Amino acid sequence: MLPYYNGCVDSYIVRLSDTLITHDSRILLEHSDVRALGLNADDAVDLGLCSNGRRVRLLTTTPEFEVTGAYGTRTLRDLLRSAPEADFRCAARAVHLAHWDTTHQYCGSCGGKTERMAAEHARKCLSCGAVVYPRISPAIIVAVIRDGKLLLAHNARRAHGFYSVIAGFVDPGETLEECVAREVREETAVEVQNIRYMSSQPWPFPDSLMIAFICEYRSGEIEVDGSEIDHAYWCDPDNLPEVPPRPSVARSLIDWFVAHHADL
Ligand SMILES: [Zn+2]
Repeated sequence: MLPYYNGCVDSYIVRLSDTLITHDSRILLEHSDVRALGLNADDAVDLGLCSNGRRVRLLTTTPEFEVTGAYGTRTLRDLLRSAPEADFRCAARAVHLAHWDTTHQYCGSCGGKTERMAAEHARKCLSCGAVVYPRISPAIIVAVIRDGKLLLAHNARRAHGFYSVIAGFVDPGETLEECVAREVREETAVEVQNIRYMSSQPWPFPDSLMIAFICEYRSGEIEVDGSEIDHAYWCDPDNLPEVPPRPSVARSLIDWFVAHHADL
């Protein structure tokens, strides 16, 4: 069930195609902003109580909507780097749910039209009654440590020069620990042990949940597959290459390694 709101202030996130409308760089808009933009607050969809304690509601404009004056637009990736974390989390939730809404307009069982349910984040088929819930795609991300060095890899499909820790989507029927071992093995031919949970991060590009681990090297020598990973190596903490920006969970793992490598 969606939570009961007691005295919460309404905030609005306004979506324009694949961007969000901002006011003086603020992503959480007030009721007065909704009026100034000529939108109707009654059209907003409740997103549930987000992490900053505000009741956040989502409005979606038409692609032709013109943004003027103090209002502008930002992509979710822009906001990842610039917005306060609590605001970004609200925007991430909004974009994740909006993406799911727009891609689940029809039933996967019978092809009938679906409609949003009022009491929870779900859609119900008007023909067969099937209920579907927002898709969340779990993916592991892992820092593999060997003698005080960190396993970093370069993604062959990315043009940028970032090196990062190993990551990959969880397969059906697989535990998170099995996924960690498989991804590291598939991408670098290295075997790992002592897998420990570290943290998690919603990653709405478009619907992932990153689950971060640390683990130890057990055996094997690095051998990359060449298609997904084109280079991997054991990185010294004093000589990091270009790595993902904060506040990604990949960067959190790398920062953790740099801070704790002496104890590893
Ligand atoms: Zn159906």
